Amino acid sequence: MSSQPESAAERRDAVRERHRETASEVLPEHTGLYVGGEFVDSAAGETFDTVDPTTGEVLASAARGREADVDRAVEAAWRAFDEEWSGYGAGRRQRALTAIADTIEAHTEELARLESLDNGKPVSEATIDVRGAAEQFRYFAGLVRGNDGETMAEGSRYGQVIKEPYGVVGQVVPWNFPLLMASWKLAPALAAGNCTVLKPAEQTPLSALRLAELLTENDLLPDGVVNVVTGYGEEAGAPLTGHPDVRKVAFTGSTAVGKEVMKAAAENVTDVTLELGGKSPVVVFPDVEVEKAVRLVSSAIFYNTGECCEAGSRLFVHDDVADEVLAGLQAAIDGMTLGDPLDEETDLGPKVSREQVDRTMEYLDLAREEGGQFLAGGDRPDDEALADGCYVEPTLVEGLDHDSRAVQEEIFGPVLSVFRWDDYDEMMTLVNDVDYGLAGGVVTNDATKAQRAARDIQAGYVWINSYHDLVPGLPFGGYKQSGIGRELSEETLAHYQQTKTINQSLR
Ligand code: NDP
Repeated sequence: MSSQPESAAERRDAVRERHRETASEVLPEHTGLYVGGEFVDSAAGETFDTVDPTTGEVLASAARGREADVDRAVEAAWRAFDEEWSGYGAGRRQRALTAIADTIEAHTEELARLESLDNGKPVSEATIDVRGAAEQFRYFAGLVRGNDGETMAEGSRYGQVIKEPYGVVGQVVPWNFPLLMASWKLAPALAAGNCTVLKPAEQTPLSALRLAELLTENDLLPDGVVNVVTGYGEEAGAPLTGHPDVRKVAFTGSTAVGKEVMKAAAENVTDVTLELGGKSPVVVFPDVEVEKAVRLVSSAIFYNTGECCEAGSRLFVHDDVADEVLAGLQAAIDGMTLGDPLDEETDLGPKVSREQVDRTMEYLDLAREEGGQFLAGGDRPDDEALADGCYVEPTLVEGLDHDSRAVQEEIFGPVLSVFRWDDYDEMMTLVNDVDYGLAGGVVTNDATKAQRAARDIQAGYVWINSYHDLVPGLPFGGYKQSGIGRELSEETLAHYQQTKTINQSLR
């Protein structure tokens, strides 16, 4: 057996050492803006630091892009579109996307470790993200063919409905699934024939930069088809989403910023799709096998440390099984390992940043003031070995009024609010009494009840007896304030295309 360091200080040092060593192995060589196939400094020469949320140490400094840099990137994207990419037929685009998928897959371990360093997610979950990213490119490579449009031959009229790319699209992604969200955006945009400017989140720019390096190193796309402008939301994201030469905007992030993005896009009547926040319910019926229900509910909220837009953050558990399910959840939480995300055994890593810890802690304070009783967690972990990191305990809170802010607003942390029910209609009224409508879960062995509940939940995606498994081919996106448009599907490809009708008289 390997000898484990004993004291908290020794364990902290060991984690720091491991992270420095891993950083030396996996950090991208280039951290400039990726414009026209080259890594360049920002026009103002400014940079910003990206911090390891496990150790608090700076991982790298990336270029701090602003409006002038966005302009450069948009120009480079149009050049690539006009001079090369628009001439790529479906077959060449398909081969390019497949090659990107192969390359990502070949670098799975490296990308997963990089993502784990920059975001704090357990490396086991980061590995799932990287595989999912490769899968996106493969899926949209498959859709490229057969996307040929329609015809109408009627009397003396010949009508054609063809799909054309927008040209240049602007894409803004968040920090919770940095590479995966980048792939959700890039793959359909490229498949549809567009060039793109991508802005990663300031907290997690590194995996997008490494992907850009891989594109260049392996000559996977013509220069300028993909551009990456790192920087802050207001300085780089806003000019991109309001850019007059960007013909389509796609955004994933908070509902508050989504509204700003929509306003910015409105200036130029730019088409926009938004994948925003959630406050998703999980409904547990009385017939469930408790152990299975506990596993599912626990993963619904605690996966990725609760930093999931679709996180099942409101539990509605039937009275008959509530005590057992809650006891099971408490035991599951007791058994969770909070720790170094690079460790395969870790269940919960740190949150992405101090700011996100503060935000979660504010909600926990609020929940306390609003009368919540903590059945588990409710604080930062009391472990000196974790003191450098952005950790928050997995938390179970009961007794909150459904109208309270801690229940209505997106916490985006490992915090589950519990409600017991015995009247289906009353329960379903509460389930739908939020501004969000991204996802939901139903846990029951009764197929009829499951169907009814799935239909009654006002959300764009409902799982029955599972959670989080998002499969290309099944559209994902929100009702209400959770967004506009769908990802992961043929519908997504359509979001990146405009329709042209050609109506020809044969007379
Ligand atoms: P944001 O919505 O601010 O971040 C998402 C992306 O938008 C980032 O790339 C960000 O850039 C960018 N951005 C910020 N402001 C603008 C703007 N005015 N125009 C264009 N782009 C912009 O999320 P936060 O990081 O601020 O997190 C706040 C909360 O949002 C979280 O606590 C969580 O509740 C929610 N959230 C939801 C996500 C989801 O998947 N639904 C994902 C992330 C957060 P930058 O980071 O550089 O500022």
